[in-house]
Amino acid sequence: MSNPSSKFLRVKCSCGEEQVVFGKTASRVKCGSCKKLIAKPSGGKTVVLAKVEEVL
Ligand SMILES: [Zn+2]
Repeated sequence: MSNPSSKFLRVKCSCGEEQVVFGKTASRVKCGSCKKLIAKPSGGKTVVLAKVEEVL
């Protein structure tokens, strides 16, 4: 069974900045441009707070 949470996700912040985050991040991920929180760890997987553009 594939686990999509273990992949990389390309997310797009509301400011337009795109960033690649790991599907199982252990730390909070902030946008490199506007410093807004775009992903955070939750129960072993990543909760993406920005728009997911693509699963890599
Ligand atoms: Zn941003």
